[in-house]
Amino acid sequence: MIRFLSILMALCSAAAAHAQSVAFTFDDAPNMLALPRLSAPQRNAAMLAALARHQVKAALFVTAANGATGAEGKALVRAWGEAGHAIGNHTMTHPDLNSDSVSLAQYQQEVLDCDAVIRTMPGYRKWFRYTYLREGHTKDKRDGMRQFLSAQGYRNAYVSLDTSDWRLEEKLLEVLAKNPQADLAPIKRMYLSHIRQRALAYRELGQRLQGRDIAQVMLMHHNLINALWLDDVIAQFKAMGWTIVTPEAAYSDPVYALQPASADPGQSLLLSMARSLGLGRFDGWARLVDDGDTEIEALKAQGW
Ligand SMILES: [Zn+2]
Repeated sequence: MIRFLSILMALCSAAAAHAQSVAFTFDDAPNMLALPRLSAPQRNAAMLAALARHQVKAALFVTAANGATGAEGKALVRAWGEAGHAIGNHTMTHPDLNSDSVSLAQYQQEVLDCDAVIRTMPGYRKWFRYTYLREGHTKDKRDGMRQFLSAQGYRNAYVSLDTSDWRLEEKLLEVLAKNPQADLAPIKRMYLSHIRQRALAYRELGQRLQGRDIAQVMLMHHNLINALWLDDVIAQFKAMGWTIVTPEAAYSDPVYALQPASADPGQSLLLSMARSLGLGRFDGWARLVDDGDTEIEALKAQGW
C-alpha cells in the first residue's frame, strides 16, 4: 500500500511538473456598447457565469471612461470583484503611450484617474495593464512609467499569451450586422482554433526563452465573443491538459519580475524578451503578430 501510494505521488508530481498553466485576463471593461444578441449586462453575466461554472478566478482590467464612472458600468465591474475576480487598471480613456501626442505626464495622470474610480471596488489590485501593450517608444517614457508604477506600488500586469480575440470580435459583429440570425458555428470554431494555436505557440516560445513552462497570462477582452464562447475556451484548455490558475498565482512566476532591456518594450512579455535578446523574426513569429489575419482569411475562404 505504501509502495502504491509513493508511486501514485511520484506520478502526480511528475504530472504537476508538466502541467502548463494559464490565467485569464480581460481588458477594456466595461464594454457598454449596444451589440446584437446580448446586452451589456447580459454579456457581463454570461462571462461571469462561464468563469463560475469552471471555478476560474480571472482579472478584469478597467478603462474607466468606457463606462465605469456611471452607475450601470460600475455595477458590471463591481460584480466581478464581488465574484472574487481581481480588478485592475487599464487607464481612464485608453490613450497610446507610444503616440507623440501623448506625454508621459498625461499617461501617468490617466493611471491615477482610473485608480480613483476603481480603488474602492472589491477585488481592487494595484495592477496596471498597458494600453495596446505599448510600454513607451522612448527611453524617457519607458523608464518614466517604470519608475512611476514602482513609486505607486503598481505591478506591470504583463501579458504572455496574447490573442486577437478583438479581431474575431470585429468579424463576428460584421457578420451579425449583415444577418442577425447568422449561424455562428464557423466563427466559433475559428475562434477556438485561434486561441489554441496562440496558446501552443506562446508555450513553445516560453520554453525556448526560459527552458521551462512559464505560468502563462492570457489577454482577452470584455466583449461579445467571450460572452458567447468563454465557456468553450475554458473547456478547450482543460481538454488540452492545461491547469487554470489565478492571475496572482501566475504573476508569482519570477518571469513577471523581468523588465526587458528593449528600447521599445511591449506586446507579449515573451515577444518583448525575444526582441531584447535579438531573436528577431524567429520561426513562427509572423503568426504571433498577424492580428488574427490567418483566421480572418480562412473565414473569407469559406465565404464569410
Ligand atoms: Zn485595451
